[in-house]
Order: sequence, then C-alpha cells, then structure tokens
Amino acid sequence: SGLVIAVDGTSGSGKSSTCRGAASRLGLAYLDTGAMFRAMTWFMLEHGVDVHDADAVAARATEPAIVSGTDPLAPTIHVDGVDVGEAIRTQRVTDAVSPVSTVPAVRSRLLELQRAIIAEAVQGPGIVVEGRDIGSVVAPEAPVKLYLTADPAARAARRAAEQGEQDAAAVAATQASLLDRDRIDSGRATAPLTMAEGAVHIDTTPYTLEQVIDRVVALAEA
Ligand code: C5P
Repeated sequence: SGLVIAVDGTSGSGKSSTCRGAASRLGLAYLDTGAMFRAMTWFMLEHGVDVHDADAVAARATEPAIVSGTDPLAPTIHVDGVDVGEAIRTQRVTDAVSPVSTVPAVRSRLLELQRAIIAEAVQGPGIVVEGRDIGSVVAPEAPVKLYLTADPAARAARRAAEQGEQDAAAVAATQASLLDRDRIDSGRATAPLTMAEGAVHIDTTPYTLEQVIDRVVALAEA
C-alpha cells in the first residue's frame, strides 16, 4: 500500500511549502490538516459562535461539511460547499484557530475526516500529511516522520514578506502571533504539538526551500 509521510512542526516553519513540494516530486497526495482546523474555525466565526467558549464550539463541531482536495499543486478546502481557501488565511481566522483547536470534539471530528482521506490515499501511491499531531495521533504508524522548526525571527520575517509587510512593527506582530499559536498548540491537553517518536527533526532556518524538499524526498526514498 501507499506511503504515508507525517510532517509536524511549529507555525511558520515552512511545513506547507515543503510538504507540497515533496508530495509533488514524489507523486503523492497532500493533506493540510491546518486548513481543516482553519475551516472549522471559519465556520464558527461565520455562525457567530464564541470561539473562546469551548462548550459552544463543541456543540457545533459535527455540523460543517469540510471537504479537502489533496492535489499538492492545487490544494482546496470547502465548507458546506463554499470555497474558503482564501477566507481561512485572514488574521481573524488565524487569531481564533488555536483556541478552537484545543476543543476535543473538534479534534475527534477532524481526526475522523483525516483518517478517511489517508485510508483512501494509501490505496494509491500515498500521501504527505502536515499538521501538529500527525506523527503522534493521526498517523503514528507512518514510516517517515518529520518535525520542522525554524528560528522565530526568521519565520516571522519570511511570513511578513509573503504578506507584503516589511516594516519592523509588522514583523514583530507576526512573530508574536506565531509564538502565541505555538504556545497554545504545545500547551493544550489533547494532542499537543510535540516531536513524535521516531521523527527526524529539521531546523529549516539555514536552508532554502529546495534543500529541505531534497532532504524529505531522500528520506522517503531511503
Ligand atoms: O498549519 P496551520 O498554521 O495552518 O495550522 C493552524 C492551526 O491549526 C494551528 O496553529 C493549530 O492550532 C491547529 N492545528 C492543530 N492540529 C493539526 C493542524 C493544525 O491543532 N494537526
């Protein structure tokens, strides 16, 4: 059956670009589980749910139909038939996603969807799955596991540049937002961000994107 590559790491460590590049070179599908948590968060905000009220979030966690497209060259995400690919990247969603992701009912609902996508992909060549709990919870049996991190200042500068912001205040705000998510993601009780047993740790700070992709491809082919 197909290969599963589990990729976890901190916010802004280059996970998405690395995973998409590696999946496309290896001919594998790609699943961005962060996009699924963002889609769930978008749904809660859209329906006026208080994202800091865990009971209110849990009560609606099974409602949205969340559909992920797994082409690494053109990943898609829909909620109840609406294309939310851009809407889930707004700062409003980014600020709310970590609190929503601490809710166990949200995690169990998305875990079910993630496992179904992986089960289908392994009927074919396989899949690269990225998130925070892939090597530890979603696909602990994956034969290739990675844990990507980067220097906080470097990731903030890169993320701010992607968003067209270059002044020091914007970079500082981006860094604070990334570190805040890391803190909540690492500290939660259910499926915290952690380096999984058997994962290869890559600090991406000194490397180009192509160099990190080369490393992942080499590990997959080993
Ligand atoms: O990867 P991305 O930054 O888009 O993820 C957004 C958020 O979704 C993370 O900060 C985290 O709170 C949550 N997440 C998670 N578990 C995953 C993937 C993402 O809790 N497997």
